[in-house]
Amino acid sequence: MPSYVIPEKCDGCKALDKTACQYICPNDLMVLNKEQMKAYNQAPEMCWECYSCVKICPVQAIEVRGYADFIPMGAAVTPMRSSDSIMWTVKFRNGSLKRFKFPIRTTDEGSAVPDGGFNTKTEELKDPHLFTEPDSIGTDLFTK
Ligand code: SF4
Ligand code: SF4
Repeated sequence: MPSYVIPEKCDGCKALDKTACQYICPNDLMVLNKEQMKAYNQAPEMCWECYSCVKICPVQAIEVRGYADFIPMGAAVTPMRSSDSIMWTVKFRNGSLKRFKFPIRTTDEGSAVPDGGFNTKTEELKDPHLFTEPDSIGTDLFTK
C-alpha cells in the first residue's frame, strides 16, 4: 500500500507555504487540494513507501503499509515522533492495535557527534577496516 492521506486528519498544513509532505517526498508525489486543504498522493504507483511523508506529517494523517519484515502483512503503521523517540502504532487486519516505542537519537536534538566518539586518525583512511572498526566490534579478532 503506498502512502494514503486520511482526509479526516489532514489539515493541509495550514501554517506552511508548502505542506510538510510536499516538502519531504523525494518523488514529488504529494499535492495539496487547496479548495479542500487536503493533501493526496498523486501517483500511488510511483510511491516507494519510503515513509518520509508518514514520519514528517505533524498530525499523523498519513498511513502506509508496514513492511513484512517487521509486522504481519496487511497491517498499517502510523508514527508519532518526539525529540528522542518514535512511537509506531500498528493496526492489524483484525482491527487490534499495538504500540512500539524506539529511541531515535544518541545525542541531544540539534547536536551530532559525527565520529560517534571513535577517533579516526588520518593514517587509518587507507586501512581495510570499516570506520570505527575494530573498536566498535567489541572483539580483538581483527587485531590478530
Ligand atoms: S503533512 Fe500531513 S497534515 Fe500536512 S498536508 Fe501532508 S498529510 Fe496533510
Ligand atoms: S512514502 Fe515516500 S515516496 Fe511515497 S509519497 Fe511518501 S515521501 Fe513520497
